[in-house]
Amino acid sequence: MDIKEIKKDFPILGINVNKKPLIYLDNAATTQKPIQVIEAISDYYRNYNANVHRGVHTLSQIATDKFEAVREQIKNFINAKESSEIIYTRGTTESINLLASSLTKTLQEGDEIIISESEHHSNIVPWQLNCEGKNIKIKILPIRDDGSYDLDELENIVTENTRIVSLAQVSNSLGVVHRVKEIFHRVRKISHRNILTIVDGAQGIPHLKVDVQDLGCDFYCFSAHKIYAPMGIGVLYGRKELLEEMIPYQGGGEMIKEVSFEKTTYNVAPYRFEAGTPSVADVIGFGKAIEYVNSLGIENIIAHEDKIMQYATERLKNIEGLRIIGDYKEKAGAISFLIGNSHPFDVGTLLDQLGIAIRTGHHCAQPVMQHYNIPGTARASFALYTDFEDIDKFADALKRVALMLQ
Ligand code: PMP
Repeated sequence: MDIKEIKKDFPILGINVNKKPLIYLDNAATTQKPIQVIEAISDYYRNYNANVHRGVHTLSQIATDKFEAVREQIKNFINAKESSEIIYTRGTTESINLLASSLTKTLQEGDEIIISESEHHSNIVPWQLNCEGKNIKIKILPIRDDGSYDLDELENIVTENTRIVSLAQVSNSLGVVHRVKEIFHRVRKISHRNILTIVDGAQGIPHLKVDVQDLGCDFYCFSAHKIYAPMGIGVLYGRKELLEEMIPYQGGGEMIKEVSFEKTTYNVAPYRFEAGTPSVADVIGFGKAIEYVNSLGIENIIAHEDKIMQYATERLKNIEGLRIIGDYKEKAGAISFLIGNSHPFDVGTLLDQLGIAIRTGHHCAQPVMQHYNIPGTARASFALYTDFEDIDKFADALKRVALMLQ
Protein backbone atom coordinates (compact mmCIF):
# COMPACT_ATOMS: atom_id res chain seq x y z
CA MET A 1 0.00 0.00 0.00
CA ASP A 2 1.27 3.45 -0.90
CA ILE A 3 0.44 5.31 2.31
CA LYS A 4 1.57 8.68 0.94
CA GLU A 5 -1.02 8.36 -1.84
CA ILE A 6 -3.66 7.00 0.55
CA LYS A 7 -3.21 9.98 2.87
CA LYS A 8 -4.27 12.27 0.01
CA ASP A 9 -7.73 10.65 0.11
CA PHE A 10 -8.24 11.97 3.65
CA PRO A 11 -8.52 15.79 3.46
CA ILE A 12 -8.21 16.30 7.22
CA LEU A 13 -4.78 14.64 7.30
CA GLY A 14 -3.44 17.62 5.38
CA ILE A 15 -4.39 20.29 7.95
CA ASN A 16 -2.29 21.96 10.63
CA VAL A 17 -3.21 21.81 14.31
CA ASN A 18 -1.48 24.28 16.63
CA LYS A 19 0.55 25.39 13.59
CA LYS A 20 1.98 21.88 13.17
CA PRO A 21 1.00 19.26 10.56
CA LEU A 22 -1.61 17.03 12.15
CA ILE A 23 -0.53 13.55 13.20
CA TYR A 24 -3.74 11.79 14.06
CA LEU A 25 -3.27 8.89 16.48
CA ASP A 26 -6.75 8.74 18.02
CA ASN A 27 -8.23 6.28 15.57
CA ALA A 28 -9.68 4.01 18.25
CA ALA A 29 -11.97 6.91 19.19
CA THR A 30 -12.90 7.55 15.57
CA THR A 31 -11.23 7.25 12.19
CA GLN A 32 -10.97 10.01 9.60
CA LYS A 33 -13.09 9.81 6.46
CA PRO A 34 -11.86 9.56 2.87
CA ILE A 35 -13.11 12.05 0.29
CA GLN A 36 -15.14 9.26 -1.37
CA VAL A 37 -17.25 8.96 1.79
CA ILE A 38 -17.61 12.71 2.28
CA GLU A 39 -18.71 13.17 -1.34
CA ALA A 40 -21.21 10.30 -1.20
CA ILE A 41 -22.97 11.96 1.74
CA SER A 42 -23.08 15.29 -0.08
CA ASP A 43 -24.32 13.58 -3.26
CA TYR A 44 -27.19 11.97 -1.35
CA TYR A 45 -28.40 15.29 0.09
CA ARG A 46 -27.92 17.10 -3.21
CA ASN A 47 -29.46 14.54 -5.52
CA TYR A 48 -31.69 11.92 -3.95
CA ASN A 49 -32.60 12.81 -0.38
CA ALA A 50 -35.89 11.04 0.44
CA ASN A 51 -37.21 8.78 3.14
CA VAL A 52 -36.70 5.06 2.58
CA HIS A 53 -39.25 2.24 2.31
CA ARG A 54 -42.14 4.68 2.26
CA GLY A 55 -42.62 6.34 -1.07
CA VAL A 56 -43.65 5.24 -4.52
CA HIS A 57 -41.89 8.27 -5.92
CA THR A 58 -38.60 7.96 -7.76
CA LEU A 59 -36.31 9.61 -5.21
CA SER A 60 -37.59 7.40 -2.42
CA GLN A 61 -37.00 4.35 -4.58
CA ILE A 62 -33.45 5.40 -5.44
CA ALA A 63 -32.70 6.08 -1.76
CA THR A 64 -34.25 2.76 -0.72
CA ASP A 65 -32.33 0.77 -3.34
CA LYS A 66 -29.01 2.31 -2.32
CA PHE A 67 -29.82 1.93 1.38
CA GLU A 68 -30.57 -1.77 0.91
CA ALA A 69 -27.56 -2.31 -1.37
CA VAL A 70 -25.30 -1.25 1.50
CA ARG A 71 -26.93 -3.90 3.70
CA GLU A 72 -25.81 -6.45 1.11
CA GLN A 73 -22.29 -4.96 1.10
CA ILE A 74 -22.10 -5.28 4.90
CA LYS A 75 -23.38 -8.84 4.71
CA ASN A 76 -20.52 -9.71 2.34
CA PHE A 77 -17.97 -7.74 4.36
CA ILE A 78 -18.57 -9.77 7.54
CA ASN A 79 -19.68 -12.94 5.72
CA ALA A 80 -23.18 -13.13 7.16
CA LYS A 81 -25.48 -15.66 5.50
CA GLU A 82 -28.21 -13.20 4.56
CA SER A 83 -28.60 -9.44 4.40
CA SER A 84 -31.67 -9.76 6.67
CA GLU A 85 -29.18 -10.58 9.43
CA ILE A 86 -27.82 -7.03 9.25
CA ILE A 87 -29.64 -4.52 11.44
CA TYR A 88 -28.79 -0.85 11.16
CA THR A 89 -28.27 0.79 14.54
CA ARG A 90 -26.62 4.02 15.69
CA GLY A 91 -23.47 2.13 16.61
CA THR A 92 -22.00 -0.47 18.95
CA THR A 93 -23.61 1.16 21.97
CA GLU A 94 -27.09 0.91 20.52
CA SER A 95 -26.47 -2.61 19.21
CA ILE A 96 -25.54 -3.86 22.68
CA ASN A 97 -28.39 -1.95 24.33
CA LEU A 98 -30.77 -3.57 21.85
CA LEU A 99 -29.45 -7.01 22.75
CA ALA A 100 -29.42 -6.36 26.49
CA SER A 101 -32.99 -5.06 26.40
CA SER A 102 -34.36 -7.80 24.18
CA LEU A 103 -32.46 -10.85 25.43
CA THR A 104 -32.80 -10.22 29.16
CA LYS A 105 -36.60 -10.20 28.77
CA THR A 106 -36.51 -13.95 28.13
CA LEU A 107 -34.06 -14.83 30.92
CA GLN A 108 -35.20 -16.66 34.05
CA GLU A 109 -34.34 -16.06 37.70
CA GLY A 110 -30.88 -17.40 38.49
CA ASP A 111 -29.60 -17.08 34.90
CA GLU A 112 -26.11 -15.70 34.41
CA ILE A 113 -24.40 -13.39 31.93
CA ILE A 114 -20.63 -13.34 31.42
CA ILE A 115 -18.68 -10.25 30.37
CA SER A 116 -14.99 -9.48 30.96
CA GLU A 117 -12.98 -7.13 33.12
CA SER A 118 -11.69 -5.29 30.07
CA GLU A 119 -15.02 -4.36 28.46
CA HIS A 120 -15.91 -0.88 27.28
CA HIS A 121 -18.65 0.63 29.46
CA SER A 122 -21.09 0.01 26.63
CA ASN A 123 -20.70 -3.74 27.18
CA ILE A 124 -21.15 -3.38 30.95
CA VAL A 125 -23.79 -0.77 31.72
CA PRO A 126 -26.56 -2.01 29.35
CA TRP A 127 -26.42 -5.40 31.11
CA GLN A 128 -26.50 -3.76 34.53
CA LEU A 129 -29.45 -1.56 33.52
CA ASN A 130 -31.45 -4.47 32.18
CA CYS A 131 -30.66 -6.87 35.03
CA GLU A 132 -31.50 -4.38 37.76
CA GLY A 133 -34.19 -5.71 40.08
CA LYS A 134 -34.06 -9.17 38.50
CA ASN A 135 -32.25 -12.11 39.95
CA ILE A 136 -29.79 -12.33 37.07
CA LYS A 137 -26.09 -12.39 37.82
CA ILE A 138 -23.39 -10.65 35.78
CA LYS A 139 -20.14 -12.59 36.10
CA ILE A 140 -16.74 -11.20 35.18
CA LEU A 141 -14.00 -12.99 33.27
CA PRO A 142 -10.82 -11.45 34.73
CA ILE A 143 -7.79 -10.24 32.75
CA ARG A 144 -4.17 -11.03 33.45
CA ASP A 145 -1.64 -8.21 33.85
CA ASP A 146 -0.74 -8.44 30.15
CA GLY A 147 -4.37 -7.57 29.33
CA SER A 148 -5.34 -11.01 28.02
CA TYR A 149 -8.31 -12.91 29.41
CA ASP A 150 -7.50 -15.31 32.22
CA LEU A 151 -8.92 -18.35 30.45
CA ASP A 152 -8.16 -20.69 33.37
CA GLU A 153 -11.04 -18.91 35.09
CA LEU A 154 -13.53 -20.00 32.42
CA GLU A 155 -14.07 -23.37 34.11
CA ASN A 156 -15.07 -21.58 37.33
CA ILE A 157 -17.28 -18.96 35.75
CA VAL A 158 -19.26 -20.88 33.15
CA THR A 159 -22.06 -22.91 34.75
CA GLU A 160 -25.28 -24.56 33.67
CA ASN A 161 -26.92 -21.19 34.44
CA THR A 162 -24.84 -19.29 31.91
CA ARG A 163 -27.10 -17.94 29.16
CA ILE A 164 -25.13 -15.14 27.54
CA VAL A 165 -21.41 -14.46 26.98
CA SER A 166 -20.59 -10.99 25.64
CA LEU A 167 -16.94 -10.13 24.94
CA ALA A 168 -14.88 -7.57 23.06
CA GLN A 169 -12.83 -8.91 20.18
CA VAL A 170 -10.18 -6.23 20.72
CA SER A 171 -9.85 -4.17 23.90
CA ASN A 172 -10.23 -0.47 23.17
CA SER A 173 -8.21 0.59 26.20
CA LEU A 174 -5.21 -1.74 25.68
CA GLY A 175 -5.40 -2.90 22.05
CA VAL A 176 -5.23 -6.54 23.16
CA VAL A 177 -6.74 -9.05 20.69
CA HIS A 178 -8.89 -11.68 22.36
CA ARG A 179 -9.46 -15.09 20.78
CA VAL A 180 -13.22 -14.99 21.02
CA LYS A 181 -13.70 -17.88 18.62
CA GLU A 182 -11.66 -20.19 20.85
CA ILE A 183 -13.34 -18.88 23.99
CA PHE A 184 -16.86 -19.50 22.63
CA HIS A 185 -15.78 -22.99 21.65
CA ARG A 186 -14.53 -23.69 25.17
CA VAL A 187 -17.64 -22.18 26.76
CA ARG A 188 -19.84 -24.47 24.69
CA LYS A 189 -17.80 -27.47 25.81
CA ILE A 190 -18.16 -26.60 29.50
CA SER A 191 -21.92 -26.01 29.53
CA HIS A 192 -24.66 -28.18 28.05
CA ARG A 193 -27.06 -25.25 27.81
CA ASN A 194 -27.55 -23.20 24.68
CA ILE A 195 -25.43 -20.11 25.40
CA LEU A 196 -25.83 -16.97 23.31
CA THR A 197 -22.52 -15.45 22.23
CA ILE A 198 -22.03 -11.76 21.51
CA VAL A 199 -18.96 -10.00 20.13
CA ASP A 200 -18.31 -6.31 20.69
CA GLY A 201 -16.47 -5.76 17.44
CA ALA A 202 -16.01 -1.98 17.71
CA GLN A 203 -12.21 -2.33 17.66
CA GLY A 204 -12.13 -5.64 15.79
CA ILE A 205 -13.82 -4.52 12.58
CA PRO A 206 -11.14 -2.00 11.47
CA HIS A 207 -8.13 -4.19 12.27
CA LEU A 208 -9.12 -7.83 11.71
CA LYS A 209 -10.74 -9.87 8.98
CA VAL A 210 -14.19 -10.52 10.37
CA ASP A 211 -16.12 -13.62 9.40
CA VAL A 212 -19.12 -13.96 11.70
CA GLN A 213 -19.79 -17.54 10.64
CA ASP A 214 -16.22 -18.60 11.31
CA LEU A 215 -16.22 -16.78 14.67
CA GLY A 216 -19.15 -18.93 15.75
CA CYS A 217 -20.90 -15.96 17.35
CA ASP A 218 -24.64 -15.41 17.51
CA PHE A 219 -24.33 -11.61 17.43
CA TYR A 220 -21.65 -9.14 16.30
CA CYS A 221 -21.84 -5.41 17.08
CA PHE A 222 -19.84 -2.58 15.54
CA SER A 223 -19.79 1.15 14.75
CA ALA A 224 -19.21 2.37 11.23
CA HIS A 225 -17.24 5.44 12.32
CA LYS A 226 -14.35 3.24 13.50
CA ILE A 227 -13.88 2.02 9.92
CA TYR A 228 -13.72 5.26 7.89
CA ALA A 229 -17.50 5.70 7.66
CA PRO A 230 -19.72 8.42 9.15
CA MET A 231 -20.76 8.66 12.78
CA GLY A 232 -24.28 7.80 13.87
CA ILE A 233 -24.52 4.47 12.08
CA GLY A 234 -23.56 0.95 13.05
CA VAL A 235 -24.55 -2.66 12.84
CA LEU A 236 -26.01 -5.44 14.83
CA TYR A 237 -25.46 -8.74 13.07
CA GLY A 238 -27.60 -11.56 14.45
CA ARG A 239 -28.27 -15.10 13.29
CA LYS A 240 -31.59 -15.12 11.46
CA GLU A 241 -33.26 -17.81 13.60
CA LEU A 242 -32.51 -15.78 16.72
CA LEU A 243 -33.60 -12.42 15.31
CA GLU A 244 -36.95 -13.85 14.25
CA GLU A 245 -37.68 -14.78 17.86
CA MET A 246 -36.36 -11.65 19.53
CA ILE A 247 -38.61 -9.06 21.11
CA PRO A 248 -38.37 -5.65 19.37
CA TYR A 249 -36.31 -2.98 21.08
CA GLN A 250 -38.07 0.25 20.08
CA GLY A 251 -41.56 0.75 18.73
CA GLY A 252 -42.52 3.06 15.89
CA GLY A 253 -42.80 3.30 12.14
CA GLU A 254 -41.39 0.59 9.86
CA MET A 255 -41.05 -2.09 12.56
CA ILE A 256 -44.69 -3.22 12.42
CA LYS A 257 -46.83 -5.43 10.22
CA GLU A 258 -50.17 -4.15 11.45
CA VAL A 259 -51.18 -1.76 14.21
CA SER A 260 -54.48 -1.49 15.98
CA PHE A 261 -55.38 -0.45 19.51
CA GLU A 262 -56.28 -4.04 20.27
CA LYS A 263 -53.21 -5.81 18.88
CA THR A 264 -50.04 -4.91 17.02
CA THR A 265 -47.98 -7.39 15.01
CA TYR A 266 -44.34 -6.92 14.11
CA ASN A 267 -42.45 -6.81 10.86
CA VAL A 268 -39.79 -9.41 9.97
CA ALA A 269 -36.10 -8.93 10.78
CA PRO A 270 -34.21 -6.69 10.19
CA TYR A 271 -37.05 -4.13 9.91
CA ARG A 272 -38.69 -5.06 13.22
CA PHE A 273 -35.55 -3.66 14.91
CA GLU A 274 -35.35 -0.49 12.81
CA ALA A 275 -38.10 1.75 14.15
CA GLY A 276 -38.26 5.27 12.76
CA THR A 277 -36.40 7.11 10.01
CA PRO A 278 -32.84 5.81 9.70
CA SER A 279 -29.74 7.84 8.99
CA VAL A 280 -29.83 7.22 5.23
CA ALA A 281 -26.94 9.50 4.26
CA ASP A 282 -24.71 7.80 6.80
CA VAL A 283 -25.62 4.39 5.43
CA ILE A 284 -24.68 5.61 1.94
CA GLY A 285 -21.35 6.89 3.30
CA PHE A 286 -20.86 3.57 5.08
CA GLY A 287 -21.21 1.74 1.76
CA LYS A 288 -18.47 3.93 0.25
CA ALA A 289 -16.20 3.26 3.25
CA ILE A 290 -16.56 -0.50 2.76
CA GLU A 291 -15.85 -0.03 -0.94
CA TYR A 292 -12.73 1.93 0.01
CA VAL A 293 -11.47 -0.73 2.45
CA ASN A 294 -12.20 -3.48 -0.08
CA SER A 295 -10.32 -1.61 -2.79
CA LEU A 296 -7.18 -1.67 -0.62
CA GLY A 297 -7.87 -5.18 0.67
CA ILE A 298 -8.40 -5.87 4.37
CA GLU A 299 -5.45 -8.35 4.32
CA ASN A 300 -3.13 -5.57 3.06
CA ILE A 301 -4.46 -3.19 5.71
CA ILE A 302 -3.87 -5.78 8.44
CA ALA A 303 -0.32 -6.49 7.21
CA HIS A 304 0.51 -2.78 7.14
CA GLU A 305 -1.01 -2.10 10.56
CA ASP A 306 0.88 -5.06 12.06
CA LYS A 307 4.17 -3.53 10.92
CA ILE A 308 3.16 -0.15 12.32
CA MET A 309 2.19 -1.76 15.64
CA GLN A 310 5.51 -3.60 15.93
CA TYR A 311 7.54 -0.55 14.98
CA ALA A 312 5.64 1.75 17.36
CA THR A 313 5.97 -0.76 20.22
CA GLU A 314 9.74 -0.99 19.70
CA ARG A 315 10.18 2.76 19.52
CA LEU A 316 8.07 3.40 22.59
CA LYS A 317 9.84 0.72 24.62
CA ASN A 318 13.11 2.58 24.03
CA ILE A 319 11.84 5.74 25.71
CA GLU A 320 13.16 5.99 29.24
CA GLY A 321 10.48 5.82 31.90
CA LEU A 322 7.78 4.70 29.46
CA ARG A 323 5.71 1.70 30.50
CA ILE A 324 3.30 -0.07 28.16
CA ILE A 325 0.06 -1.13 29.83
CA GLY A 326 -1.23 -4.42 28.44
CA ASP A 327 1.98 -5.69 26.86
CA TYR A 328 0.39 -8.74 25.24
CA LYS A 329 1.81 -10.49 22.16
CA GLU A 330 -1.34 -10.14 20.07
CA LYS A 331 -2.42 -6.54 19.70
CA ALA A 332 -4.21 -4.47 17.11
CA GLY A 333 -4.70 -0.80 16.60
CA ALA A 334 -3.72 0.72 19.93
CA ILE A 335 -0.92 1.06 22.48
CA SER A 336 -1.63 2.30 26.01
CA PHE A 337 1.22 3.69 28.08
CA LEU A 338 2.34 5.78 31.02
CA ILE A 339 5.47 7.86 31.43
CA GLY A 340 7.03 7.73 34.89
CA ASN A 341 4.65 9.22 37.42
CA SER A 342 3.32 11.87 35.06
CA HIS A 343 -0.40 12.21 34.48
CA PRO A 344 -1.53 10.98 31.03
CA PHE A 345 -3.49 14.21 30.60
CA ASP A 346 -0.21 16.19 30.69
CA VAL A 347 1.31 13.88 28.08
CA GLY A 348 -1.72 14.35 25.82
CA THR A 349 -1.76 18.13 26.24
CA LEU A 350 1.93 18.53 25.46
CA LEU A 351 1.67 16.29 22.39
CA ASP A 352 -1.32 18.30 21.19
CA GLN A 353 0.88 21.42 21.20
CA LEU A 354 3.04 19.56 18.70
CA GLY A 355 0.09 18.70 16.46
CA ILE A 356 -0.15 15.10 17.67
CA ALA A 357 -3.59 13.83 18.65
CA ILE A 358 -3.72 10.93 21.12
CA ARG A 359 -6.30 9.92 23.72
CA THR A 360 -5.85 10.13 27.48
CA GLY A 361 -8.02 8.94 30.36
CA HIS A 362 -9.88 5.78 31.24
CA HIS A 363 -11.12 5.17 27.67
CA CYS A 364 -14.62 4.25 28.94
CA ALA A 365 -13.11 1.17 30.55
CA GLN A 366 -12.78 2.10 34.21
CA PRO A 367 -12.57 -1.53 35.48
CA VAL A 368 -9.38 -1.93 33.40
CA MET A 369 -7.87 1.08 35.14
CA GLN A 370 -8.97 -0.36 38.48
CA HIS A 371 -7.17 -3.61 37.60
CA TYR A 372 -3.88 -1.74 37.18
CA ASN A 373 -4.69 0.72 39.97
CA ILE A 374 -4.12 3.72 37.71
CA PRO A 375 -6.37 6.70 36.89
CA GLY A 376 -5.93 6.29 33.16
CA THR A 377 -3.41 5.91 30.35
CA ALA A 378 -2.21 7.71 27.26
CA ARG A 379 -3.29 5.80 24.17
CA ALA A 380 -1.96 6.07 20.63
CA SER A 381 -4.10 4.31 18.07
CA PHE A 382 -3.48 3.61 14.42
CA ALA A 383 -5.31 3.29 11.12
CA LEU A 384 -4.59 2.24 7.56
CA TYR A 385 -3.15 5.72 6.82
CA THR A 386 -0.66 5.72 9.74
CA ASP A 387 2.90 5.52 8.39
CA PHE A 388 6.40 5.06 9.81
CA GLU A 389 7.06 8.78 9.59
CA ASP A 390 4.04 9.45 11.83
CA ILE A 391 5.43 6.98 14.37
CA ASP A 392 8.92 8.53 14.23
CA LYS A 393 7.52 12.02 14.82
CA PHE A 394 5.31 10.72 17.61
CA ALA A 395 8.16 8.83 19.32
CA ASP A 396 10.54 11.78 19.00
CA ALA A 397 7.92 14.11 20.46
CA LEU A 398 7.24 11.65 23.25
CA LYS A 399 10.94 11.58 24.13
CA ARG A 400 10.87 15.36 24.53
CA VAL A 401 7.68 15.20 26.57
CA ALA A 402 9.17 12.48 28.81
CA LEU A 403 12.21 14.69 29.52
CA MET A 404 9.97 17.65 30.33
CA LEU A 405 7.75 15.68 32.69
CA GLN A 406 10.37 13.75 34.64
N1 PMP B 1 -16.95 -1.02 22.47
C1 PMP B 1 -15.67 -0.74 22.19
C2 PMP B 1 -14.63 -1.81 22.35
C3 PMP B 1 -15.32 0.54 21.75
O1 PMP B 1 -14.06 0.83 21.47
C4 PMP B 1 -16.34 1.52 21.60
C5 PMP B 1 -16.00 2.93 21.16
N2 PMP B 1 -14.97 3.53 21.85
C6 PMP B 1 -17.65 1.17 21.90
C7 PMP B 1 -17.91 -0.11 22.32
C8 PMP B 1 -18.77 2.13 21.75
O2 PMP B 1 -18.87 2.53 20.42
P1 PMP B 1 -19.84 3.72 19.98
O3 PMP B 1 -19.54 4.87 20.92
O4 PMP B 1 -19.45 4.01 18.58
O5 PMP B 1 -21.23 3.23 20.13
